[in-house]
Amino acid sequence: MLSVATKRTQAARFAHWRPGLWRFHLPEAGGVWAGVTDRTGSLESLQTAAVFPQGMVMAGQVHGASIASVERIRAPGRPIAGCDALVTQTLGLGLAIRSADCLPLFVWDPVQGVVGMAHAGWRGLAAALPCRLIRFLQQRYHTRPGDLWVGIGPSIRACCYDVGPAFESRLAPWVQEERGRRTCDLIACAAAQLREAGVAAHRVLDSGQCTACEPDRWYSLRREGEACGRLISCIGFRT
Ligand SMILES: [Zn+2]
Repeated sequence: MLSVATKRTQAARFAHWRPGLWRFHLPEAGGVWAGVTDRTGSLESLQTAAVFPQGMVMAGQVHGASIASVERIRAPGRPIAGCDALVTQTLGLGLAIRSADCLPLFVWDPVQGVVGMAHAGWRGLAAALPCRLIRFLQQRYHTRPGDLWVGIGPSIRACCYDVGPAFESRLAPWVQEERGRRTCDLIACAAAQLREAGVAAHRVLDSGQCTACEPDRWYSLRREGEACGRLISCIGFRT
């Protein structure tokens, strides 16, 4: 159970912004915009409100751990195939992913001026996508992990994420059994990987939103099935 103080802090960091849109309020933001649509939002409303003059590019998303660096859009409207995370230094270019329970991870480095957007479900976490993304930023952009800020968007949480006895063994440290339920805490798993990669705990900003707990606000694949809609998360430098 979260304390009232923690809930207030979360609300200050991640809040409703405009109809259909929520955003992170980032420390040291420097022109970075990071946010997500809710059930009433759409890609069009996000593009209109977030204003990325270079356009917006989507990750193809294959539940893997591949990362692509995108500095300009070569094929407008076409997702970058085969990857679940995108990074850029280009001003005015938005990076986007779709999700309904999986974790949207928003990453920004205010020192090197680079942002990243990742889609991490249990498969991506088992493949260490958060760790790999931080390593990619270190190698490609000379990022120091201690400079990074990371936002965790609306996603399914331990309160609603029941798993079977044969669930992915690499996630076993984050599976708990209580009162006849076996649940997995994907948020804690992602946070642990980020810490391991050198990101300071106080620089991981959690939206605190559970997609399955708030059916009027978010889409949840677990609750609604494969045909449900998808939330669109996006980050980029607006200026
Ligand atoms: Zn929940």
